[in-house]
Amino acid sequence: MAHQETSSQILSEPVSRRLVLGGLATAGALAGAAPVSAKLKAARSWDAIVIGAGVFGAWTAWNLQRRGQKVLLLDAWGAGHARSSSGGETRLIRTEYAANAFYTRWAWESLAEWHALAKRHESPIFQEVGALYFYPKDTAKIDESIALQRSLGIPIEKLTQAQMAKRWPQIDFDGRTVGVMQPTMGALMARRSVQTLVEDFVKAGGGFRTLAVDAPRSDRAALAGIAGNGETLHAEKYVFACGPWLPKLFPEIVGARIVPTRQEVFYFAPDAGDDRFAAPHMPAWVDAGDPDLHYGFPDIEARGFKIALDGHGPKYDPDGVDRRITDQGLADVRAYLAKRFPALAKRPLAASEVCQYENSDNGHMLIDRHPDWANCWIVGGGTGHGFKHGPALGRYVTNLVLGTGKAEPDFTLAAHKVHG
Ligand SMILES: Cc1cc2nc3c(=O)[nH]c(=O)nc-3n(C[C@H](O)[C@H](O)[C@H](O)COP(=O)(O)OP(=O)(O)OC[C@H]3O[C@@H](n4cnc5c(N)ncnc54)[C@H](O)[C@@H]3O)c2cc1C
Repeated sequence: MAHQETSSQILSEPVSRRLVLGGLATAGALAGAAPVSAKLKAARSWDAIVIGAGVFGAWTAWNLQRRGQKVLLLDAWGAGHARSSSGGETRLIRTEYAANAFYTRWAWESLAEWHALAKRHESPIFQEVGALYFYPKDTAKIDESIALQRSLGIPIEKLTQAQMAKRWPQIDFDGRTVGVMQPTMGALMARRSVQTLVEDFVKAGGGFRTLAVDAPRSDRAALAGIAGNGETLHAEKYVFACGPWLPKLFPEIVGARIVPTRQEVFYFAPDAGDDRFAAPHMPAWVDAGDPDLHYGFPDIEARGFKIALDGHGPKYDPDGVDRRITDQGLADVRAYLAKRFPALAKRPLAASEVCQYENSDNGHMLIDRHPDWANCWIVGGGTGHGFKHGPALGRYVTNLVLGTGKAEPDFTLAAHKVHG
C-alpha cells in the first residue's frame, strides 16, 4: 500500500449525497462498558488516542496500529452503538458516483478492504446483493460514470427500462428509462462491521475503552491530554472522529460546519413466503429520479425490506431524546411504495430507525488538523455517504497524522463554510 498520497482537487462542485447517491479483549465488550485489561491500564501513554469508535474512528485506529502506533480507541457509548451514525443495520457500498473519480476510487479500494475484514473474521459483514440505480433519462454523465468504473475494472451493466422490468417485475419502473447495475456492490452490515473491525484492532493489541471525553482545552500549541470522567489520558497525537457530536466538542472550530439532520429509516415485512424482495431477486437500489431520492435494500437477515428518503431531515441533536419515526414520514414512504413497489404498500412496518446525517455544506468529509493544536485532528462530515469509505478514509487520516500524506483541499476546514 502506498503511504504517500498525492493531493488533488476532488471536485470543482459540491457533492450532495442526493446528487451522487446519490475493547477491550472481547467482542461482547464492544457495545458497552467492560473491564480494561491490566496491561492496558498500566499503559499510561499512547502514541495516538482516537476518540469515537464509529466507522471513521475505528478504521483510523486500525490503520494507525498497522503503521506501528500504540493506539487507544475511546467511545462514550461503545463501538457502533445504536445512536451513532454508523450504528444502523445496513449501509450501501457502490461506485456509481456521478463520475467523481476520487470517491469512485475510494469506494472501490474500500470494498477490497471490507472483503478482507469479512474474510479474516468469517463474518457476513458484506452482502453482495448488487446495487441498481435507475434514472429518468439517459445522460452523458451516466456514460461518463460507467466509463470511469469500467476503466477501473469494476463490473457494471447499463440497462433499458424493458430489461429492468423483465429482471425485476416486482418494481414499477414507470418514468425510469435507464438502469445501472453493479453486481459486485451491495450492503455493508454497518453495526456488525464496525464492531468486527474493533475486535480486529483489539486482537492485534489495540486498546479500547468506553469513556466520554470532555471538550478538549489547551492554551498551548499542542494538546497535552484529554479528560473524561475525572481521568486524564495522554498521547502524542489525538484524532477526534466524533461524527455528529463534533460541533459540540469543537463549537468554535467545527460549529455549524457540520449540521446533523434527522433521518428516518423503515423496514417492511413482505407477505409470508414472498421472496421477491430478498436477494438474489432484489438488489439494493437507488431511485435517482427526484432531487430527494428514495433508496433501499432487499430483505437481509429477515429484517424486512428497507427504504428511506435521502432528503435532509430537520436539524437534529444526536443527544435528542425522541427517536420515533413520524406519522408523516411513514405516510410519505407508503405513498412512494404504492407507486414503485406496490406489493409492499400495505405491508406491516416491521422495524424502524432514526439516525442522523452529519452534513457538511459541500458534501465532502471534513478532515483537518486543529488550527491551534499541531497534534490534534478532526475527522467527520460523512454527509450521508461516508460509511463505505471507512477503509480508505482511515488510511488517508493515518497518512496525515504520521506526516506521510498531503491534505485534500476539499476536506479542509477552510473549504467548509459555516451553514447558514
Ligand atoms: C440513515 C443513514 C443512512 C446512511 N446510508 C449510508 C449509505 O448507504 N452508505 C454510506 O456509505 N453511508 C451512509 N450513511 C452515512 C454514514 O453512516 C456516516 O457518514 C458514517 O457512519 C459516519 O461515521 P462517523 O464515524 O463519522 O460517526 P459515528 O458513527 O456517529 O461515530 C462517532 C462516534 O463518536 C463517539 N463520540 C462522540 N462524542 C464523544 C465523546 N465526547 N467521547 C467519546 N466518544 C464520543 C460517538 O459515541 C460515536 O460512536 C448513512 C447515514 C445515515 C444516518
